[in-house]
Amino acid sequence: MTATVWILGDQLLAGHPALIAGGEREVGAVLLIESAAALARRPYGKAKLALLLSAMRHYADGLRQRGYEVDYRRAPTFGAGLRDHVARYRPASLLVMAAASHAGRAFQHDLSGRLDLPVTLLPNTQFLTGRFNPIPEPQPDRRYVMETFYRAMRRHFDVLMDAGQPAGGRWNYDAENRRPLSRNAILPPDAAYAPDALTLAVLAELETSPAATGEPPALSSWPRYAVTRGQALDALQHFLDERLPHFGPNQDAMTRRSHSVYHSLLSPYLNLGLLEPLEVIGAAEARYRDGRAPLPSVEGFVRQILGWREFMYWQYWRQGPGLTARNAWDATRPLPGSFWTGKTDMACLRHALGRALATGYNHHIERLMLLGNFLMLAGVQPAVANEWFRAVFIDAYDWVMPPNVLGMALNADDGLTATKPYIASANYINRMGDHCAACPFDPKARTGASACPFNFLYWAFLIRHEARLRANPRFGPAVLGLARLSEAERAAILAQADQFLANEIGPIGAA
Ligand code: FAD
Repeated sequence: MTATVWILGDQLLAGHPALIAGGEREVGAVLLIESAAALARRPYGKAKLALLLSAMRHYADGLRQRGYEVDYRRAPTFGAGLRDHVARYRPASLLVMAAASHAGRAFQHDLSGRLDLPVTLLPNTQFLTGRFNPIPEPQPDRRYVMETFYRAMRRHFDVLMDAGQPAGGRWNYDAENRRPLSRNAILPPDAAYAPDALTLAVLAELETSPAATGEPPALSSWPRYAVTRGQALDALQHFLDERLPHFGPNQDAMTRRSHSVYHSLLSPYLNLGLLEPLEVIGAAEARYRDGRAPLPSVEGFVRQILGWREFMYWQYWRQGPGLTARNAWDATRPLPGSFWTGKTDMACLRHALGRALATGYNHHIERLMLLGNFLMLAGVQPAVANEWFRAVFIDAYDWVMPPNVLGMALNADDGLTATKPYIASANYINRMGDHCAACPFDPKARTGASACPFNFLYWAFLIRHEARLRANPRFGPAVLGLARLSEAERAAILAQADQFLANEIGPIGAA
């Protein structure tokens, strides 16, 4: 009697634990399912669907080449796909790796009863917090800062450590990592992979798919993402060679010239399982050890994966499924239409939305300080914002969206993820980017016809939430500026913000 290994679409690991465990028993078949219901759950961007489907189908081909019998099914639902597989293959048991989401795990826990089959659920190896949890028993309302978490992870996994101390004597190089881009900086292009026959077939299918929205997946608009582990490893090399040395100082920089600057563009591959966190972290550390990349850049990059990525996964499980319903700032507005069309006069948003809709990617500061900042200042409902990010971004999965969108960008969890709301006026956007030079709005004007909306929205937010912001020690200083505003200025700011939001988004609470 043989076992079936069921591999989920975001678990495309070369060393998948169920395949390894299956080596000790007899694996009859490896099952992968494209569920039509799951693919149609949201108006997913076509770049995102193309990446997922092409990567799954390439992975299946790779397994066949390794000698596995692969049952690759397109089914109405996962349940239907599993039932049909069991009816045809009659496995004695099922081996699965724990899903990274609440819903996926609940489904897996019911599987044995549904299929009337023994099911072995193996620990998820895509995250390091499964192997070491720096805060094993969190208290419900306590805030845990990422820095504490990250240092414990560095110590435990012995990353950038010298004799028990942080390499270079410091844990953190953030202060050096906040420079705008210099005008003559050379920006290496993104790693890009020509689509093969399999990817072309996926793109052709998506052209007529009723489920997907976004840019037509014409060959010219396919961002040429890596779809195999080999290509993902190549993308990692490209990052290490071309971008890592510059990553740190320009981590927060924004520019019209690029949507990725010196960022790695590795999140889609890490989240699909094509790359594993420790191999990426180890490769970056090796560049520091052999003198090919400076410590502030390497530490800044390691912090993203060993710190932020793991911390977000930890927050997702710690806060539970209720996180997606949190709305600590009582935001009630619907999503602006421009988030689906990309059409807006604001140059920075037009750039970020255009790239998001076409490629499914923006780098972190565009996501946080342009898109998230705008949604927070505009008072858009966090759950609605979460659904938009979830549909559009190539690296979006259930575990990663709520802590980033509701926790970090919209502060909707009352500060459990991030200690302060990440809001800023046009001053920050102008300092860190070059969009304002190509924008009809004036980043220096607070009100008036030419004022940048980020300004009056920011000040209106401060006015409306003054008492609460004053109570936050990390935010208090920003609110002090309010004391310099006359009553007339306050009224003008609020009126212009209301007018703008009514035009741009529509009435509060509209669906
Ligand atoms: P780099 O800047 O090169 O960073 C290296 C790696 O660190 C990333 O590949 C990623 O794996 C990891 N990382 C860094 N920060 C985070 C974080 N906060 N959460 C998780 N991983 C992190 N990340 C996603 O993986 N999927 C998402 O859907 C996603 N949505 C986001 C939405 C918002 C509103 C915000 C503020 C952040 C979001 N992030 C998301 C986190 C982060 O912006 C992306 O991981 C990053 O921009 C991916 O680009 P990169 O690979 O070039 O990252």
